[in-house]
Amino acid sequence: MSTSIHQNTTSDIALNLKEVKAPLPAGVKVVAVGKTHPASLIQEAYDAGHRIFGENKAQELVDKKDQLPGDIEWHFIGHLQRNKVKDIAPFVQYIHSVDRLRLIEEIDKRARQHERVIDILFQVQISGEESKFGLSFENARALLHPDRLKPFEHIRIRGLMGIAANTDDVDLIRDQFRDLKHFFDEMRRKYETIRPRFDELSMGMTHDRDIAVEEGSTMIRVGSAIFGARTYKGPHL
Ligand SMILES: *Cc1c(COP(=O)(O)O)cnc(C)c1O
Repeated sequence: MSTSIHQNTTSDIALNLKEVKAPLPAGVKVVAVGKTHPASLIQEAYDAGHRIFGENKAQELVDKKDQLPGDIEWHFIGHLQRNKVKDIAPFVQYIHSVDRLRLIEEIDKRARQHERVIDILFQVQISGEESKFGLSFENARALLHPDRLKPFEHIRIRGLMGIAANTDDVDLIRDQFRDLKHFFDEMRRKYETIRPRFDELSMGMTHDRDIAVEEGSTMIRVGSAIFGARTYKGPHL
């Protein structure tokens, strides 16, 4: 009796999810990013009805996948080394961070081995910062040429992903998201007939998700607003 009095019926994570989702226009998806947090917290979000989860490290993704329900839609959102593709290819639904042809070749090859099709997004470098990751607009345009991508039947190029500068300058963030949206629209118009499902634009994280949604995001990747602050941020973010 004494324990039931203070027991919450709704977890913090369920409430956070509700708050993140409430202002979103229909069709904007939330990728709940559980990196550094234990599988038990992801289970809480699952129990609250959420099904789309993202991780930025291959090993962490595999470990968590093994501990969690089988109907989760897993998204890989971090920098991906080619030799890790085989570990996530059996089950991952989306890879947001594709930024080179060699990686496409490897994803296609591993997906074929498992008789799967993996949805991919091209990561475009929009932050203006010196970063090893992400394609320039020019390189993304070259790579998106149908002749270069025709051989790959086990990937589906669904759209683009971008990470804005880590800054308080909201005008700068807005400009960067807007540039990516323009490029996305340009590519979609160009390839509509051959690639009818080029329809996802992954942009926006906890601190800049409102701007991203205003600028046309279809997928926001949200970690701390759902699971709380991370004590360890990792080498990349
Ligand atoms: C960690 C991470 C996020 C989520 O970050 P939050 O600020 O906690 O929302 C989004 N995208 C990528 C690529 C990440 O690595």
